[in-house]
Amino acid sequence: MAIKSRAAVIVEKEHVEVRELDMAEPGPGQVLVRQKACALCTLEQRFFTGVFPKYPGCWGHEVSGVVEAIGPGTITPLKVGDHVARGGGSACDQCYDCAMGYDSMCWIEKERLARQQVGGRADGITGIFGMSQYASVDPHNLVKMADHVPFVEAALVEPIACAVNAVDKLEVELGQTVVIIGAGAMGLANVLVCKARGAFVVVSDLDAQRRERALKAGAHAALDPSAGDIAEQLNAINDGRLADAVIVAIGVKPANDDALKLVASCGKVMLFASAHPGVPISIDPNIVHRSGIWITGSTSKNRKSLMRASLLISRGIIDVKPMIEEAMPIDQAQQAFERAVQPDTYRIVITM
Ligand SMILES: [Zn+2]
Ligand SMILES: [Zn+2]
Repeated sequence: MAIKSRAAVIVEKEHVEVRELDMAEPGPGQVLVRQKACALCTLEQRFFTGVFPKYPGCWGHEVSGVVEAIGPGTITPLKVGDHVARGGGSACDQCYDCAMGYDSMCWIEKERLARQQVGGRADGITGIFGMSQYASVDPHNLVKMADHVPFVEAALVEPIACAVNAVDKLEVELGQTVVIIGAGAMGLANVLVCKARGAFVVVSDLDAQRRERALKAGAHAALDPSAGDIAEQLNAINDGRLADAVIVAIGVKPANDDALKLVASCGKVMLFASAHPGVPISIDPNIVHRSGIWITGSTSKNRKSLMRASLLISRGIIDVKPMIEEAMPIDQAQQAFERAVQPDTYRIVITM
């Protein structure tokens, strides 16, 4: 029997409709989630703005909700009524990358998506159906949440998991200095995680309000790239040293340039944001050779980072409220997207 579900469907560029969809009952190996909140990340925004012109589509990978039913024969630690967060795509647990913990590199999941075995429907709507009241999903991609966490906040487990993944890779140590360039929503996610990790957290952003927001969220200091030499600014507050790690959370050339100015010898640069357009980074190989810096990147998360992000939020170790701009009901999905794509907004969350 089909389940009636109201869903926000991107029907064409810059046009979202709320439709009533017939969603499938959970099959073997699946869990049915009554989804309550879905945050609009840059991925969803790119479907909306036409960077990824795949229509009609129902996306949404930053999701929270309640377990409504468990498919026949599904073995899972989750129970009906559990609050859960969902983290977008899944992973196969079979390929080399999944075995190594690099779930986001799973080619089998990418192949499933390409063949529309994930969410492909008779009515032509594709996607992972995070912006839908109901979806039957692989429980591998769900984590249990504490009941007291509001759904709007629980939806942000996925972006926090992405920051956990990146900060893990940087192996940030207690007391080390991390500069986060860009104090948008994902910049703040990195601020929160680095703070929890015991780092001295410095943000850099051109916008005074964003710097203020980052400081309120827990950053120890803020740099203004327009206020003179950025490396000198950092030296002045960091005992004359540069950063042990720099996280670039905005995909623009000046941010990459600043990262290379701010990283100390043997330090690490994390390209966390995707760049559109992808302007090449030019760097003298002798600089890398002599300074021993690491330049790396991170996208998405793995099962372990998703689980720990759920604990960080459920146990109140981090508070994601600073990342949230506003929650809007699904009936206002069109307006929610229009707001989300404005450059100055933090996360807009659709409630369902
Ligand atoms: Zn996201
Ligand atoms: Zn895999």
